[in-house]
Amino acid sequence: MANQQQAAVVTGAASGIGRAVVDAFRDEYDYIACFDIEESGDEFEDDSIHWFTVDVRDPDAVAEAVAAVEADADIAALVNNAGISHAVSLDELEPEEWDRVLDVNLKGQYVVARAVAPAMVERGHGAIVNVSSVAGLRGSATGGVHYSSSKAGSFGLTKGLAKQLGPAVRVNCVAPGLIETPLLTESNLWTDDALADYADELPLERIGSPEEVAEVVSFLCLDATYVTGTVLTVDGGSMLR
Ligand code: NAD
Repeated sequence: MANQQQAAVVTGAASGIGRAVVDAFRDEYDYIACFDIEESGDEFEDDSIHWFTVDVRDPDAVAEAVAAVEADADIAALVNNAGISHAVSLDELEPEEWDRVLDVNLKGQYVVARAVAPAMVERGHGAIVNVSSVAGLRGSATGGVHYSSSKAGSFGLTKGLAKQLGPAVRVNCVAPGLIETPLLTESNLWTDDALADYADELPLERIGSPEEVAEVVSFLCLDATYVTGTVLTVDGGSMLR
């Protein structure tokens, strides 16, 4: 028996792009399930927002959280956004760090998609958006090969899932360029000067905002009814440089 309420699951919801997606979804879904390793903050106090402190790498914890959402609402959308980055050169990249980044950024997307897909397929309706990066398309000088490999893997995951889960479920991917979030500004990836120089050379001559990525995620979930298996760059034209 189908629930009446429509739910969206957003991973990595506590910060940056995930938080902006939650805001964009407030008027669109009855129930927004936020999955993050962090605890919820006051800014998330809203009847439609439900917090699950869960690690996307943990299949049992994810399955438990998905079952709790499905008890109250039908999951209509999943935004696989949780991700980590740590700049390290190849000679300093230890296998444990490779595994950590691949596990969160790529395995985590598979784990959550696997948990939500069966009910979407059974209902004949659903949308999944995986958040990747332009680093997966052209490599990253600063982010490390583990980061760009995880983000390239997300393209294959997206296309494979689009084939396997259609026609019920559309699966798409966004590949942001540099976006002003804690992942960028609080990491060791870029100095302020390097970031300003990079922005100057972009066709749109600026770094993007989390809200600009959230708009595209929302479009793919709600409006793009004949779009599946695609990768949409949200990068101010960085791929043209
Ligand atoms: P952010 O650091 O602001 O937010 C990431 C969120 O993911 C955090 O809330 C964090 O707690 C959560 N998270 C981390 N590990 C997790 C885990 N194991 N389980 C559950 N939650 C976990 O980063 P952001 O910039 O908003 O990044 C969001 C996504 O966008 C990431 O996948 C990132 O790779 C991608 N991206 C970001 C940029 C950028 O410039 N900011 C560019 C391209 C792609």
